[in-house]
Amino acid sequence: MLTLAEKISRAEHFFHYKWTREELLVHRGRLLDISEWLSRNFPSPYPYKLSQTNRLAYTQEGIKFPIFGQCSCENGKMLIQIHSNLPLHEKIETLLHEWAHAHTWRHLNIELEREEHDDEFYLVLGRIERAWENAWHMN
Ligand SMILES: [Zn+2]
Repeated sequence: MLTLAEKISRAEHFFHYKWTREELLVHRGRLLDISEWLSRNFPSPYPYKLSQTNRLAYTQEGIKFPIFGQCSCENGKMLIQIHSNLPLHEKIETLLHEWAHAHTWRHLNIELEREEHDDEFYLVLGRIERAWENAWHMN
């Protein structure tokens, strides 16, 4: 687990990336391929929408550092947002993490009571990461 100071220095480094529109489209294609694979193997109870944005810049406490990703449920759709300034491998890692939220998402009332990263979340994230390594890294 990274400390907040480590997260900030890591994030500030990534914050300097300014991808071109073409590069962002290449990233988008890769992320969509992986999310299609994820939705087949680890279905979410809700349809999903994936977007890259540079607006994920502050924590809820107002500390300035880019949030790598966010998963929320809006109007019956899972919205997965990935920080657009990250290098591609960090975007992919973030997508796997956010997908574990989407896969374990239940009713909002339950989510409000639930710890954000509980045992079930990490169990699913571990399964997703292992399956992803087998499916994409090893061939
Ligand atoms: Zn999370």
